[in-house]
Amino acid sequence: MAKRGFEESLGKYIVPSLCMGCAACVAVCPVGCLEYVDGKPILSGECISCGICSSVCPKYGSPAKEMEKAFFGRERKMDEEFGIYRRVTIARTRNGDIQRFCQDGGVVTSLLLYAFEEGIIDGAIVSGRNEESPLKAYPKLAESAEEIIRSAGTRYTYSPNILLLKDAVARGKRSIGFVGTPCQIQAIRKIQAASLRRYGGIVNFTIGIFCSGCFSYNGLVNELIRKKMGINPEDVEKVNIKGELIVKTLNEGTKTISLKEAKKYLSGCVSSCMDFSAELADISAGGLGLEGWTLTILRSEKGEALFDGAVSKGLLEAKSVSKDSGLWKMLVRLSRRKRRRFMKNITHF
Ligand SMILES: Cc1cc2nc3c(=O)[nH]c(=O)nc-3n(C[C@H](O)[C@H](O)[C@H](O)COP(=O)(O)OP(=O)(O)OC[C@H]3O[C@@H](n4cnc5c(N)ncnc54)[C@H](O)[C@@H]3O)c2cc1C
Repeated sequence: MAKRGFEESLGKYIVPSLCMGCAACVAVCPVGCLEYVDGKPILSGECISCGICSSVCPKYGSPAKEMEKAFFGRERKMDEEFGIYRRVTIARTRNGDIQRFCQDGGVVTSLLLYAFEEGIIDGAIVSGRNEESPLKAYPKLAESAEEIIRSAGTRYTYSPNILLLKDAVARGKRSIGFVGTPCQIQAIRKIQAASLRRYGGIVNFTIGIFCSGCFSYNGLVNELIRKKMGINPEDVEKVNIKGELIVKTLNEGTKTISLKEAKKYLSGCVSSCMDFSAELADISAGGLGLEGWTLTILRSEKGEALFDGAVSKGLLEAKSVSKDSGLWKMLVRLSRRKRRRFMKNITHF
């Protein structure tokens, strides 16, 4: 197939409609002619039509079946509605420092910490915590145990973590853990499938976090928290979603707002993605209404070994989840809902 430049492929067909803002094209462009502006790629230099940007775009010809075969050695079975898995568990951390910062059960951070301390990885690409604007998500290359722990917790705005692949390479990282939303995990897999070893080769494992959608920063902070809920954003201690949007404040206790109301402030990427549970990750993690536990899907052999290692080290405690449990059904329901929303959206183009 003829190689197309950015404008003839992504610029024309994907960016105006289906782009999720994962930033993979920007991260791997060999001549740096793309910039990430307001959550989307734009052409800002001279494109050499190498076709690399479209080869890593999760929305540009990515047959799910081929990706599954490439990364799990098989296609999903009919009843694997939330993607291929080996085991489904709920787990929580036993590490007190992680408990202080984490969003749910602290599984994501515990796995990264375990991998770092065991020498499996020499860094992790996550989303950092910024003390000045704690609700703002921004990509972070964590290079120490302390930085991994301080990055725990969820920021419900978009964090283009993939942009840091270049930095990780530049800083000489050889093996990193990558945390990201489902769209970013799809993009990492495409980078690996495209044999871009420089970037894909340093990602040792991926942890995907469940996602029903990200808020725009202005929507979440100014429109929703400040105006609708009457909370000074500086007083926010933690935001969580458990059937409703819950804002824990430093001085005024906890305030909530219905998801129906909150969803008005979601950013556009939500209608371009049909993956709720990061179906191509080694491990997927979500809160799913649980208090203090993380629903954890172990998908690949590598993911399962990592999780079992952290459990045997005493860093995590875990319980299995059965197919007839309410949690399992919820996972199936939310996966179907996100797919349905996507299908409805594309029929409107
Ligand atoms: C935008 C968004 C929407 C979500 N929607 C749902 C949902 O609908 N249902 C559900 O069950 N779970 C959802 N989650 C996942 C949930 O909030 C937790 O991340 C998950 O349960 C893991 O919890 P934990 O305590 O194990 O993670 P922790 O140990 O607290 O670690 C969380 C990790 O996520 C990283 N991170 C934080 N914010 C972002 C971000 N914006 N983008 C990428 N990485 C980030 C952190 O750096 C950290 O490495 C969502 C997460 C995000 C970021």
